[in-house]
Amino acid sequence: MNKLDAQRQKEIQQAEELLFAGPQALGFAKGLFQGHFVSDWVMPYPRIAAAERGELDQTVTELRKFLNKDLDPAEIDRQADIPRNVIDGLGRIGVLGMTAPKEYGGHGFSQMANCKVLEEIGRRCASTSVFVNAHHSIGIRALLLFGTPEQKQKWLPKLVTGEQLGAFALTEKEAGSDAANVQMQARPTEDGSHFILNGEKRYITNAAIAHELTVMARTPVPGSDKTAVTAFLVTPDMPGFEMLEERMPKMGIRGTATGRFALRDVRVPKENVLGPLGKGLKVALTVLDFGRTTFGACCTGAAKTCLDLVVQHANTRKQFNKTLGNFHLVKKKIARIAADAYAMEAMTTVTASFIDRGLEDYMLETAMLKVFTTERLWECINDVFQIYGGSAYFIDLPLERMLRDARINQIGEGANEVLTSFIALVGMRGPGMEFKEIYDTMMKPSRDRMSKAWAAGRNRLGATIRIPDVPVQSEQLRDHARQLGRLIRHFNFAVNRALITYREPILDMQLVQERIANAAMDLFASTCVLSRQDSEIHLARRNGDAAAADHAAADLFLRQSFRRIRGFLAGLTDNDDKSVLATANSCLAKPGS
Ligand SMILES: Cc1cc2nc3c(=O)[nH]c(=O)nc-3n(C[C@H](O)[C@H](O)[C@H](O)COP(=O)(O)OP(=O)(O)OC[C@H]3O[C@@H](n4cnc5c(N)ncnc54)[C@H](O)[C@@H]3O)c2cc1C
Repeated sequence: MNKLDAQRQKEIQQAEELLFAGPQALGFAKGLFQGHFVSDWVMPYPRIAAAERGELDQTVTELRKFLNKDLDPAEIDRQADIPRNVIDGLGRIGVLGMTAPKEYGGHGFSQMANCKVLEEIGRRCASTSVFVNAHHSIGIRALLLFGTPEQKQKWLPKLVTGEQLGAFALTEKEAGSDAANVQMQARPTEDGSHFILNGEKRYITNAAIAHELTVMARTPVPGSDKTAVTAFLVTPDMPGFEMLEERMPKMGIRGTATGRFALRDVRVPKENVLGPLGKGLKVALTVLDFGRTTFGACCTGAAKTCLDLVVQHANTRKQFNKTLGNFHLVKKKIARIAADAYAMEAMTTVTASFIDRGLEDYMLETAMLKVFTTERLWECINDVFQIYGGSAYFIDLPLERMLRDARINQIGEGANEVLTSFIALVGMRGPGMEFKEIYDTMMKPSRDRMSKAWAAGRNRLGATIRIPDVPVQSEQLRDHARQLGRLIRHFNFAVNRALITYREPILDMQLVQERIANAAMDLFASTCVLSRQDSEIHLARRNGDAAAADHAAADLFLRQSFRRIRGFLAGLTDNDDKSVLATANSCLAKPGS
């Protein structure tokens, strides 16, 4: 085995241990890759429980009042700081401990309710959204999910009120997208009472203002010469904690404090280990599932702001004796923003409900939500920017700030390219294993293998023949539902063909992976839109105002999404991949020419 193959085998083994240990549930996204429509995950459209609704409405009203009065996003950007009164106000309203249990002083909200709160902040200020996410969605999340009762009792009460702040520290120079490559070391002391931590972290939001940091470092695996990542609770008052740079000057979300720090022989008590020893990557992935959901909520809020801004300008700015809203090329952009904002909200709500219902394994859906909403928001802001013309370029309007702020979304919490490849590969693993079973049996038949291969073959064949049922209640959505079912079958067929055609090399074929992941993302987005629209029609009918309901944005989204899916799948056989790769290779071989 050459060095590259050995590295590949190691990566596959690591991924298998990390992602696929234990029983595998068939979630919605994994179901799509198998040709199934796992309807009970997505239908009926989730609603916030009546018991929580009142408290949420009250919190949102209070939050809006506070944000409208005390939050000045332009000033936060100019000063590159979120003032203490804003942090205190968010703490007072409960935003900094929204999902923490009430026994620790939190609000005890569901993730769906939390997303509604974050959407409000995302509507106004990206710096403040990222600050809240860094503290609550990821900073204290490991403590909430994996902390022992003693750890929670000790740390949470001050963290959920904002008296103290949290941060999540994974990234290092050599561990960016390749998060498993953490180099920070944690060596146990001889008496086992402490770990000695050494190394550096960079690009950490809230690092300089946090009182508690969830830090990922490598610990020895007992009985072997290997190491594995473990999560630790670290406080900046520990001797050897050195802040290298408190606020790295940056392009957007300038109000957040993004820092670098070093740990030099920092003694961390063993009581500060978060979660099982050596399972830090699993802890990190679980934490990021929550972060990606609130990411979706903040992007939804920002997309709604885009819609407000574009409508206002298109209705008032006149050129050629007409308001801009009269021109079809302007209408096209407005319509797409409306459709995307509708879909982003639906997708966020459905994904958050997976967390609230305690469903197993929604990492594909959270990854899809993150990629989809961040890419759509970038498009939305770019479109509004265009319609504002030259005025967008000047700093008296929020658009240049919004553009700068939104750019991090496609990079942070997993670069979109990495997540796109992840979605395709994790999704294809299920059908891929079935094909492997069939192939191995053909190569080396045995009685035991035959029965497994037969089951796998029946599954694969069944999914190719069957059009999955997409159960909507409204008659007027039946056609869309049938189209979605047909597209899922088409998708499954395309996945099967790609697996049969390319076999193991598909692991490196990111252009193929991208089309498959993009199609899967649009299938998920369409499903969420259809589910939301179905529930809204049903509700309007029940309330006797069906005629008033406007479904233009949802309808447009479905049409455009279906068209995109067909395009992605057609691209699997009709593309310029060879030429793309040859051109890039030629450039890479001649740097500076
Ligand atoms: C403002 C800001 C705040 C942040 N806050 C935090 C925080 O609170 N905590 C924390 O731990 N981290 C944080 N980060 C770090 C962030 O998560 C990383 O920047 C991100 O994971 C990407 O890592 P990297 O910057 O090292 O880029 P790299 O890993 O060098 O990747 C650069 C680019 O290469 C491409 N790429 C990389 N790998 C692949 C691949 N396998 N396939 C295809 N393309 C690929 C992608 O386009 C990617 O954007 C923050 C970063 C910023 C800028």
